[in-house]
This record gives sequence, structure tokens and C-alpha cells, in this order.
Amino acid sequence: MKILVLNSGSSSVKFQLFEMPEKKVIVKGLAERIGEEKGRFKIGDWEVNKALPSHKEALELLTDYLLNKENQIIKNKEDIVAIGHRVVHGGKSFMQPTLVNVQVKDKIKELFSLAPLHNPANLIGIETAEQIFPKAKQIAIFDTAFHHTIPEVNHKYAIPKKFYDEGIQKYGFHGISHQYVSREAIKKLGKDSSKIITLHLGNGASATAVVDGKSFDTSMGFGPMNGLIMGTRSGDIDQSIIFYLMDKMAYSSEDVQAILNKKSGMMALAGSNDLRDIEQRAEQGEATALMALEMYANAIKKYVGSYVAEMGGLDALVFTAGIGENSDVVRRLVTKDMAFFGISIDLEKNKQAKIYQGDIGNSKTKVWVIPTNEELEIAVQSYELLS
Ligand code: AMP
Repeated sequence: MKILVLNSGSSSVKFQLFEMPEKKVIVKGLAERIGEEKGRFKIGDWEVNKALPSHKEALELLTDYLLNKENQIIKNKEDIVAIGHRVVHGGKSFMQPTLVNVQVKDKIKELFSLAPLHNPANLIGIETAEQIFPKAKQIAIFDTAFHHTIPEVNHKYAIPKKFYDEGIQKYGFHGISHQYVSREAIKKLGKDSSKIITLHLGNGASATAVVDGKSFDTSMGFGPMNGLIMGTRSGDIDQSIIFYLMDKMAYSSEDVQAILNKKSGMMALAGSNDLRDIEQRAEQGEATALMALEMYANAIKKYVGSYVAEMGGLDALVFTAGIGENSDVVRRLVTKDMAFFGISIDLEKNKQAKIYQGDIGNSKTKVWVIPTNEELEIAVQSYELLS
């Protein structure tokens, strides 16, 4: 069965076509700069550079490619049985993979206010796919869904109850990734009961405590700005800073949003959100870069420590996403001086993580690098829903 997975952003669509249940990737690619003068569409080594006025033109190019006789991927559009869509925010309404219908789309719209940067683009992806593949089942997989198991003690904020009743609570994000890597970690552990911390360290970053395969706590909250220090987001700050910026320094709410979302994090600390660049400068001894890396790792350590305390132990610590998978420097800094916690790594294995299949630990607690695969997780969950 062929399942297409779409991850639609406001100006891009990433896609992968899977043969399920074999989990085989048939093709993958992306369309970017949608709506701009010069768009780019890439699939395998085929690249088209031309304006893509909307998501529709991008999906049409994909369909042309799939139907092209030379490529022999599909004979007709109906060969694609389902399309799995990443949808960032499911609020309290969506806790499972969901077959899209009119009511589901209305609900995703209602949730625009909770995820203004993501849900509108995700819905455009769904509606375009409906137009182009009218026979395929459209399935929404929500990034918040994995976190619906977070117990009240961890998802409630200590603010007046009426706000909780209005839906103001911790939702958490990157759920598809945390779910995928925690599931892989549980397979490796090979036991029923488990306590795991997954660190999704990409441009956005979050830590999740996973007990027996269920999300128990996570570092992002009502929105995706708090928790760890990220590429351009601040992570945890004192709320009074926001009031100070607005009331004493006359910044508007939009300004503050932009500051905390786009101009903070590693960008603010080191002038770049590309960790490779910061690492290089740190290697040359640049003090700003060294301090930024130390702060970055320290923020992660604090969450690891609190989650070990909360869960009452730890079987495995998992690093994933662009930085988690590739930066031995960050992994070394995060796990430094954690031996008393039962966490320590082998520095050589850490440097050569791929050779050691990501098994870099040197302690009772496993330390693993597990590449994330959100697209595959979406395909698997879509397939499970259909079967
Ligand atoms: P993601 O959002 O998962 O694509 O991750 C993006 C982040 O991963 C950026 O900060 C990149 O600089 C970082 N990254 C990618 N490759 C490497 C690498 N080889 N070493 C260090 N950081 C990397």
C-alpha cells in the first residue's frame, strides 16, 4: 500500500512516498519558496526551478513525477491510498491519528490561535491534497498527540482555574519525533517497564520524559517557545521580562513575540543559529561561542536532572535531530559530570557514534543517538489507522 507523507509549512512542503507495511521509501523530496518569485522543487536528483505560486503547483509537480511513465512509480493517482499529514497542534481535541473530514478541518482551524505559524500551513497542505488526490484518505497526525498522556500534575500551570478550563495548559510539541525515538529505544531496551528521556535537539528543541512508552513530561508548554535554549527561541525566561519589555521599554506584543521567537536563543548568544558555525568558533577559543555552548548544554542538563528526579530513575537517555544526532560536542557537554546520576559516555564512541550504532554510553543508564524519522512515524501511524 502506498502512503504519501506531507509536512507542509507556509512556504514549503516536504514529502516522502512509502510502501507500507514494508516501510520502504519510494521517493522523497521537497518544494520550497512557495509563493515567492523563484520556487524550487526537488525529488531525487530531479530539480525544477520555477515559480510555485501555491502548494497546489508543488503537489501537481509531484503528481506529474509519480505518474511519469519513465519513473514507473504509480499508474494512476488512486494507487496512493492515503496521505498522512503532519499537523502541529491538536489541542485537547486530537489525541490519535485522525481521518480528516469537514469537522476535523473546522477544528484544526479553531486551533489556529494556538499554533498561528503552523496549523494554517498544515491545513493548506490537507486541502490541496484533497483537491489533487480526491480518492485518497487524508489522515492527520498531530505533534501534540503523543503528549496527551502527560498527567495533570505535569500539564497544569499554577494559574487561576478558569484559564485551565479555557484550555491553557502544557501541550508539548515534537511529539511525532519523541514518539518515534522512544519507541526505538524501548525496542533496544527490550523490557516492558521503562524510563527514558528523549532530547530532540534541532533548530527547535525539546526534552521529554517517557514512562513505559507514554509521555510523562515535556519541556515545551502551551506554545513552543519555552524549555530548552533553541536556534532562535529563548527557552525558559522569567515572565516579568515580558512585562518589562512592554511596559517600560514600549515594545509591542508582536515585537516581544518576534524577539523571543526569532531573535533569541543561540542567535542572540552567539550571533548564529547554525550550531556547526558556533562549534567551529568555540574550537578556535572564541569566548562568546564557548559561553553559548555552555549555556545551551546547561539548559538541557537541568531538564535531564529534573526528569530523572520526577521519574525516579532513568534507563536510557536519547539524543536526536540535527544537533542531537550530529554534535558530539553537545552530547559531551550535556553528559559531563553526570556520573553520580548514573549517566556517563565513552568519549571515543561519542565521536564515532555512527560506527557504534549510536550506543555511546559507558554507564548502567544507556546513552543512545537515535536518528529521528518523523515521516516514517507518520506513515506507520497512518497505516495502523487504516488497518
Ligand atoms: P534540525 O532542525 O533537526 O534540522 O537541526 C538543525 C540544527 O542541526 C542546526 O543548528 C544545525 O547547525 C545542526 N547540525 C546539523 N548538522 C550538524 C553537525 N554535523 N554538527 C553540529 N550541528 C549540526
